[in-house]
Amino acid sequence: MLRIAFAPVRSCLTLIAFTAAVLLSTSALGQTAPPAAAPAAAPELRVFDAALVDKTVDPCENFYRYSCNGWFKRNPLPADQAAYGRFTELAELNRLHLKQILEENATPAATRSANQQKIGDEYASCMDTAAVNKQGLASLQPELDRIAALKSVAALPALLAHLHTIGVNAFFGMGSNQDFADASSVISFYGAGGLGLPERDYYTRTDAKTVEQRQQYVSHVHNIFKLAGEPEDEAAKDAAIVLALETRLAKASLTITEQRDPRNLNHPTDVAGLSKELTHFKLADYVATVHAPATGKANDMEPKFFAEFNTLLADTPIEQIRTYLRWHLLHAYAGTSLPESFDQENWNFYAHTLNGAEKQQERWKRCTSRVDHEMGEALGQVYAERYFPPSAKQHALEMTLSIEKAMDKDIDSLDWMSAATKIRAKEKLHTVMNKIGYPDKWRDYSKLEIVRGDALGNQMRAHQFEQARDLAKIGKPVDKGEWQMTPPTVNAYYDPQMNNVNFPAGYFQPPFYSEKEDDAANYGDMGSTIGHELTHGFDDEGRQYDKDGNLKEWWTKEDEQKFTDRAECMVKQYDAIEAVPGVHLNGKLTLGENLADLGGLWLAWLSWLDKAQAAHVDMTAQTDGYTPDQRFWIAYAQQWCTQTRPEQLRSQAQGDPHAPDEYRTNTVLQDLPEFAKSFSCKKTAAMVSPKPCRVW
Ligand SMILES: [Zn+2]
Repeated sequence: MLRIAFAPVRSCLTLIAFTAAVLLSTSALGQTAPPAAAPAAAPELRVFDAALVDKTVDPCENFYRYSCNGWFKRNPLPADQAAYGRFTELAELNRLHLKQILEENATPAATRSANQQKIGDEYASCMDTAAVNKQGLASLQPELDRIAALKSVAALPALLAHLHTIGVNAFFGMGSNQDFADASSVISFYGAGGLGLPERDYYTRTDAKTVEQRQQYVSHVHNIFKLAGEPEDEAAKDAAIVLALETRLAKASLTITEQRDPRNLNHPTDVAGLSKELTHFKLADYVATVHAPATGKANDMEPKFFAEFNTLLADTPIEQIRTYLRWHLLHAYAGTSLPESFDQENWNFYAHTLNGAEKQQERWKRCTSRVDHEMGEALGQVYAERYFPPSAKQHALEMTLSIEKAMDKDIDSLDWMSAATKIRAKEKLHTVMNKIGYPDKWRDYSKLEIVRGDALGNQMRAHQFEQARDLAKIGKPVDKGEWQMTPPTVNAYYDPQMNNVNFPAGYFQPPFYSEKEDDAANYGDMGSTIGHELTHGFDDEGRQYDKDGNLKEWWTKEDEQKFTDRAECMVKQYDAIEAVPGVHLNGKLTLGENLADLGGLWLAWLSWLDKAQAAHVDMTAQTDGYTPDQRFWIAYAQQWCTQTRPEQLRSQAQGDPHAPDEYRTNTVLQDLPEFAKSFSCKKTAAMVSPKPCRVW
């Protein structure tokens, strides 16, 4: 994955990322950790679990509590977690499976394949804290020396290019991506970057909590500089410089809500055109050092940001630029590659201060995530062979096809959409490519060198390998078989430029999917996710792309207006929710996910009803005390059982495109009269919206 997510990929889950460094080194929820219990001792994970239902709660008043209270009782929030839910429950189980694979390969043996040597030795290197502590900053010294040798901005392009190849997120990001106008071609993308706090609003908000978080950030930067050997005064001065420079970059960057509209990010140019804009940054030197093409199409994602970057280079003393680069270098490596003092300080700010975790994750968990990030398809190949049988893959595909069929019928039934737009919508739907489990062709890691005992060097080489792989795509035909998530990941995504849905093997497992359970359970849970990803192709963002993945109008003006009016109902609905005292959800930021949640669940429901009818399911027959439709809704709700710390809830409400899980359950169901009917809810009940929103 790129340092900056250029592709407007939409996943179905909140990403809990504790540190910028870890954000790069793990995917999805892989990073929050499990209860200490061994999997053998844990209760069987079920998709629909009657034992988790709390019958003392009225399902028409709070369906989330009704469906999840039993799970909350069983699963107190572990100290090393900012949030712990059913996704983490499975992610932790998957992580134990990965650990076993890594441990099997961590002992040098002549029989290991090239990939086994790499994943095994990288895991062993990461686990060897004694060696990492002993090495100290020695392995980073050549990089610190390079920065110290920077005497003028004229030499910055080559230095920055080198730092980017080793994973240092300073100033901006550059990578390959499909052209917005022509999804069949891959071009260079230049995007805003260079921040140490999670996103730009952390630098601009003026509320007391954010002001405090900024002060805590400055202390963190100060502490990292001190650990790197700077005297107290100098470290304090340098930390203030970092905040000042980053604030300038942040103020020139788009907000995360603005970034959701692809039109805000599409500014076609070419390398020569961008060079002309960057009068104080010789782009030719940069592209030569990263080995990107010296000519050709490019996209300047945020022109205002690059203009400010250019000005900043002209008016900032060179020693301040060195300070800023030194911070980002230390920051990029302040995880499992540097001594525990750095690792601890890094955890303390990003996981504890910002997100509320009370205890650091055990090292084996972080090392497992690290290998999954660096060589996910080498590790994931073994995982998929062991844990994703062909029968599950076949069933997953059948479910996906049946939900696509339901969407086809649903488009026919829409009373607000014209016939002309319906034809286009169906064309797009029929072109969606379904990717399930793992890639058809595995990534080739032969050019990546992993040296046993050299954790930091391995991290650097893994970044260089990934960067080279990414930039080599520029100018070549698009590879639609490429995956953005690794096979063991508990998550899924829709990619609007590829027009494909992607469901990793790690997700098609209990408690989200089970070959042992019936359709009511599997469609309520996994079916709703499949519908969710599919609906992303038609949410406020995805609908702007045509069937070939081009950013191109295909709606009539009237239909577009009707869509926007209907979507506005949901914007208001979520804006009204106060997630933590004083912090409301952002209806515009979460709109795409909310549309996908509601549309996805509706499609799963339609698809399941069809199947149940065809199979002559007795809709009045009870299993564990519930009718099939009631089990469908409970299975939907139970996927979202999650305990969340207030700090994490706050970060999520402010910066995550996904609404917190309680609302992904209750607010969605309030909009579906079919749910209210299954539980005979009165019109005045809390779980019944007086004016339900509906788009898809
Ligand atoms: Zn989503």
